[in-house]
Amino acid sequence: MNSNLSETLFAKSRKLIPGGVNSPVRAFGSVGGTPRFIQRALGSSLWDVDGNHYIDLVGSWGPMILGHSHPDVIAAIHEASVSGTSFGAPTERELMLAERVLQRYPACQRIRFVNSGTEATMSALRLARGATGRDFLIKFAGNYHGHADSLLVAAGSGAMTTGVPSSAGVPADTAKTTLVARYNDLDSVRRLFEARPYKIAAVILEPVVGNMGVVLPNKDFLAGLRQLTHDYGALLIIDEVMTGFRLAPGGAIERFNIDADLVCWGKIIGGGLPVGAYGGKAEIMDHISPLGKVYQAGTLSGNPLAMAAGIATLDAIKNTSDLYDVLEARGQMLEHGLKQAADKAAVPVKINRVGSMLTVFFTDQEVQDFDSAAKTNVEQFGRWFHGLLKRGVYWPASAFEAVFVSYAHSEADIETVIDAAKAAFVKI
Ligand SMILES: *Cc1c(COP(=O)(O)O)cnc(C)c1O
Repeated sequence: MNSNLSETLFAKSRKLIPGGVNSPVRAFGSVGGTPRFIQRALGSSLWDVDGNHYIDLVGSWGPMILGHSHPDVIAAIHEASVSGTSFGAPTERELMLAERVLQRYPACQRIRFVNSGTEATMSALRLARGATGRDFLIKFAGNYHGHADSLLVAAGSGAMTTGVPSSAGVPADTAKTTLVARYNDLDSVRRLFEARPYKIAAVILEPVVGNMGVVLPNKDFLAGLRQLTHDYGALLIIDEVMTGFRLAPGGAIERFNIDADLVCWGKIIGGGLPVGAYGGKAEIMDHISPLGKVYQAGTLSGNPLAMAAGIATLDAIKNTSDLYDVLEARGQMLEHGLKQAADKAAVPVKINRVGSMLTVFFTDQEVQDFDSAAKTNVEQFGRWFHGLLKRGVYWPASAFEAVFVSYAHSEADIETVIDAAKAAFVKI
């Protein structure tokens, strides 16, 4: 497989853009080699600039649940664009997308659109602090909520991949207000509440973690968090940026029957264009300006192209009656095929999956929190990753990321991936 043009472009890119990329994991830092520059994508397929074809399991890190270049989404973006790309004034499309999201999240009455998942969680956190008049926040080690200062503490995949647990440039005084608990460990949360009763504004979490690899919540964990936040008057912020519309139409909140105070979205609701959103009960959301004292704004927020892509995506999801069944079936097929292939090659793996999200951890131990996720053998993963890549499978370039299966992945695609994985496991 020839990657000459990707190599040329990457060399040039490194002189223009730090590390040659606009988001760290794209740089292949932890697996080595040259990131592929992508030319185009359709359905489950990607083509790079050297003309190589891949089955894509990255899916732009989550948004592409329908596969790439879905005709309805492309048509909607085109139609919106010919009427102008941004007005800085309200448009009807914002209401149309708001209705479509809120319909699936009956506990939320108001929603505010922003431009990324990072903005969504950052704004939801400010709102939680403003509404409660409290400063402290509890987050979980290995959960990623974007790169706002308060949330860039013990922050999961990107940071794990580069070996930096948090980030330089986050003031110590800011980080001090972020308390870190252990995922799936309710006692670790209880202790933080007991140490600072009534000073904690919110608990934020990924209801299924994708950003230290896929980790599922234990049976009583989510209900226990609801009880603790309730007892101490803190808000429960569910970060559905990755899981919203992926695990069910109403995301993890529907799938696991969670009662949230604030919800954050991104990825799928923008249909591949830059969108985020946060929402909740009216009495909380009405603290946001211009009604309330919590300031939050955006020049491009509610952008007409992004709204159009989101509307078309959510409509296609709604009109595809077998969507979640197909995602489950393909996810299951992939999981079983990979497990068999690993067993046959005598490579110990632990595969965590929920629906169309899956991670292969190179360890023989259960993975249920940051510490157990960190036991994955990163060197083995790197060799396996390159075994897949050269066989035309585009897997996330990090041992701590989720794979995303889309509706466009056929059984034949999954078989191709499993065959490539078999060969790659043997050469590990
Ligand atoms: C991707 C992600 C974010 C950040 O979204 P961006 O659009 O990349 O800023 C936040 N939370 C979770 C759970 C995510 O997966």
